[in-house]
Amino acid sequence: MTFRLEALAYPYDALEPTIDARTMEVHHSKHHQAYVNNLNAALEGVELEVDDVAALLRNLEQLPESRRTAVRNHGGGHYNHELFWESMTPGGAATPTGRLAAAIEADFGSLEALQAAFNEAGAKQFGSGWAWLVLDNGRLAVESSANQDNPISRGRTPLLGNDVWEHAYYLKYQNRRGDYLQDWWQVVNWDVVARRYEAAVSGPQELSS
Ligand code: MN
Repeated sequence: MTFRLEALAYPYDALEPTIDARTMEVHHSKHHQAYVNNLNAALEGVELEVDDVAALLRNLEQLPESRRTAVRNHGGGHYNHELFWESMTPGGAATPTGRLAAAIEADFGSLEALQAAFNEAGAKQFGSGWAWLVLDNGRLAVESSANQDNPISRGRTPLLGNDVWEHAYYLKYQNRRGDYLQDWWQVVNWDVVARRYEAAVSGPQELSS
C-alpha cells in the first residue's frame, strides 16, 4: 500500500489573512509530503491487513517493532494533516448547528467556553503538538497531544484538531501561538466538524482519514 498526498480543496492563499499563503504552501507541499514519504518508507516490505492510516494508528502493535515509532510519527502526521486541511475553509463555515451545537452546550456550556478550553490546551502544549476536540465515550472533550500523536491511539474520536507546531504559524505569528489559536477559528469549517460528530455518534464505523 502506498499513501499519497491529496491536493487541497482550496488554493494556498484562500485562508488569508488567518493563515498566509507561504505557510500553507510549505506546510502542505513540504511538511505533509514528508510525512507521507516517510510513512511509505516505514511500511516498505511490511504485509498489512489494514488499508487506511486510521486503522494503522489504532493497531500500531500489529506492526513490526522496528517500524512502530516511524509509523506512529509519520502515519500520525499524515492523518492529522488530512484532518486539519479538511477542517478549514475560506471564510470559515458558520457556527455549529444541530446535534453538535446541543452537545457543545451540554458538555461545555457554550461555544465560547469550548474555544477557550481548546485554545488553552493548544497554548499549554509544551513544544510541538496538537489541540483536539474529541468524542470520548459519547461526550465532547478537549485535549492535546505531543508531536504527531493522535487521539485515536487513545481510543477517542478526533472531531477537530489544530496544529500547534511552529511550522503551522511561525512565518506570520512568530512566537504568538495564542494569537494564532485565537484567529484560527475564523477559518474553521463547522459543517465538517458536525459531519464527523454525526458519524461518530451514529455508529461504530470510523471516519475516513
Ligand atoms: Mn503541521
